[in-house]
Amino acid sequence: MTSGAFSLMIHGGAGELREAQDAAAAEAYHAALQGILEAGRERLARGERALDTVEYCAARLEDDALFNAATGAALTREGSVELDAAIMDGAALAAGAVAAVRGIANPVRLARAILEDGEHVLLVADGAAAFAREMGMAQVDEESLITPQRREQLERALRRGRVTLDHDEPAPGTIGAVARDRYGHLAAATSTGGMTGQRPGRVGDSPIPGAGVYADDATAAISATGHGEDFLRSVFAKDLADRIRHLGLDAREALTTSLQHLHERIGGYGGAIAIDHAGRCAAGTTTPRMLHGWIEHGGPTRTGVEPPPVPPAP
Ligand code: ASP
Repeated sequence: MTSGAFSLMIHGGAGELREAQDAAAAEAYHAALQGILEAGRERLARGERALDTVEYCAARLEDDALFNAATGAALTREGSVELDAAIMDGAALAAGAVAAVRGIANPVRLARAILEDGEHVLLVADGAAAFAREMGMAQVDEESLITPQRREQLERALRRGRVTLDHDEPAPGTIGAVARDRYGHLAAATSTGGMTGQRPGRVGDSPIPGAGVYADDATAAISATGHGEDFLRSVFAKDLADRIRHLGLDAREALTTSLQHLHERIGGYGGAIAIDHAGRCAAGTTTPRMLHGWIEHGGPTRTGVEPPPVPPAP
């Protein structure tokens, strides 16, 4: 792959996002995404690798209580914070992931440590926390990750007896970052607290390579958001990458047709961001809205909540 312009995309979750109709709330999301994209731009422009940049952007989104990942994560039906995250390096097809881990401020950094360690791909719950301790990563008090808004959101979900997608509640969602660096390498990261009111021990698509996250220099870097079960059952991210590999589609065509398949085959609810091997950016969702932002081929920074709707299949 030749060197050239970099591309970067991030997302802050899919859903109804009714809160985005409130001007002040929408402004806060856009400002958060803009700031992170600008910091990511500086890094990629000075030659930082895609893998490091997606880790950095994902960790910043995790730190922002606006989003459903680490600080400000959605709560399980027992009120606990169980975090899922993954990171993938498209140059080596290397991945690291954690699921249902507790008391970790930046699960994407723990996922990166697993990737670098190289022995395993996915560690869960206490085993993941033990690995974090071995790596010298501080455990944090779970209370420090919980916001009053998440407690209220859980109370509402429990009253309705429903597991809810974060953005179908008045609060933002799961996060992800994908990048192509100047050397043509791709990387992807996804991080979430899962769905509000989920059963403890439930794991969604976010930490599963091929479902909620995927990167391969030959095809694309992808991060998904939505009902994790739908993205697991459709092996969404790998399905999208395969459309590029086998059908020669670009990011937009592959994302559109993968979402059509998700929607028509299983009524799947959610969206994704993708950057292909040529640095072309695409965003789409079967939900009304998805918070996202992008820099294509080193161009202007853009953010949006309404990616192009998924057209019906021909
Ligand atoms: N996909 C995430 C999950 O199912 C939720 C989300 O994207 O908001 O855990």
